Amino acid sequence: MLTIENSWKNIVPICGNHKERVEMVINNGPHSMFYSCPKYYPENRTKEERACNNRINLIEYRKMIDKLMGMIAEAEVNGETIDLTNFKWSSKGTEYKVLEHSGDKLYVQILNLRAMKR
Ligand SMILES: [Zn+2]
Repeated sequence: MLTIENSWKNIVPICGNHKERVEMVINNGPHSMFYSCPKYYPENRTKEERACNNRINLIEYRKMIDKLMGMIAEAEVNGETIDLTNFKWSSKGTEYKVLEHSGDKLYVQILNLRAMKR
């Protein structure tokens, strides 16, 4: 069962800026932790690739988890199982889409449009 405790490892954030699945990585910023695209850093991309500014702070990330967990919990209360594959929403200039929901694993595509404009 997907619980709040294990949701952090069962939810995989995917950068929405690439055709292939690029997993976002957690970083320690000067003020707080955040998830960013590994392709922000030159060592993670080829010479032709542009730097990717996609990122999400932990407050918004937490809200994303709460939203998904809330929907799953509600379905469980009703004795249903929910398949969130292709579920989309947006919040504060960031777009989210569940690419794949299989078992307890959720791959969520994240695209922070405000960060991309910079
Ligand atoms: Zn990216």
